[in-house]
Amino acid sequence: MTIYLILCIIMACNQPMQKSTDGASSVPQATTVVSIEKAKNVIFLIGDGMGLTQISAGMYLNKNKTALESFPVIGIHKSHSQNDLVTDSAAGATAFASGVKTVNGAIGMDHLGQKHETILEEAERKGLATGMLTTSTIVHATPAAFMSHVRSRSFYEEIALEYLQTDIDLMIGGGKAYFTRREDGKDLLEQLRNRNYYVADYFDTEFDEIEVPDNKNLFYLTSDKDPLSREQGRDYFIPATELTLEFMENRSSNGFFLMIEGAQIDWGGHANNESYVVDEFLEFDKVIEMCYDFAKKNGETLVVVTADHETGGLAINPKSTMRNLETAFTTGGHTATMIPVFAYGPGAERFAGIYDNTKIYDKMRQAFGWQK
Ligand SMILES: [Zn+2]
Repeated sequence: MTIYLILCIIMACNQPMQKSTDGASSVPQATTVVSIEKAKNVIFLIGDGMGLTQISAGMYLNKNKTALESFPVIGIHKSHSQNDLVTDSAAGATAFASGVKTVNGAIGMDHLGQKHETILEEAERKGLATGMLTTSTIVHATPAAFMSHVRSRSFYEEIALEYLQTDIDLMIGGGKAYFTRREDGKDLLEQLRNRNYYVADYFDTEFDEIEVPDNKNLFYLTSDKDPLSREQGRDYFIPATELTLEFMENRSSNGFFLMIEGAQIDWGGHANNESYVVDEFLEFDKVIEMCYDFAKKNGETLVVVTADHETGGLAINPKSTMRNLETAFTTGGHTATMIPVFAYGPGAERFAGIYDNTKIYDKMRQAFGWQK
């Protein structure tokens, strides 16, 4: 069994007592040395809008079980943004990706407009493999904050254009339209093909037909604009996770950074639709379990699961049972409640406690050994 935290309290008791200058014996000083194992790979899972109540609702309706129970380290983050107690996904994801509190709506830059390198960009620069998988469009706020730097989350076409400048190994998500039917008339998919990407989409290639040559990166588009909900028939999240984990492992000689987003827990919250929230959470929970199992087998992978914010102000009210919840929403927007963080693997211990959302960036970098 691997022990991640080695806490050595080195007492100088096996040393001879030293004499101080006045001749009296000095008391041995205790020195604490904390050494936490480094992670080669980091999988960062964001359940958009997944507060503790969303997790609780999913857990109760899943026979009181969730994959998150396997995680040994739990922390809590403060989700607020630079200008609002209630964050949006752009500021939330920018905090995770770049370690800065910014204004709602901003992607990959602080409130002064200063751009900040993201952990994914840094991983790419340092020669690690990188990937993003989402049930939203690939240019939506959460993935966008890991790979682009724009003033507004609504600049989808500009975000897509910025994606041409990276060498990310794998992207899976919706939003083909932002790459092909653009105001500037450019065909970004053609440009990506010229930049060594294997590009395919759900119109022409089934998931099990994807075959990426070893020397190519993968960009798979799951929809024209927003992907469907699971209830409406979206069925790619589980097979995409399987493919992604295998893909990343094959390229992990220098390690990898992978971001996976369960985007539509948030959309269910905005719609004040309990079954939408629960359904999306339970699928995300399976994805979490797959990542946990991967990390358990792999031994060098840190898995961190959290949300950017809670959505809907969901409550589980009196008269609820395990089979039938009496839920209520207080808003069609987000709330400012603190958010749980779950960690497993090398460096997981750093994620215990209560801290700002920006610290998740620091802790992931520390896990890689990039920052003390
Ligand atoms: Zn939202």
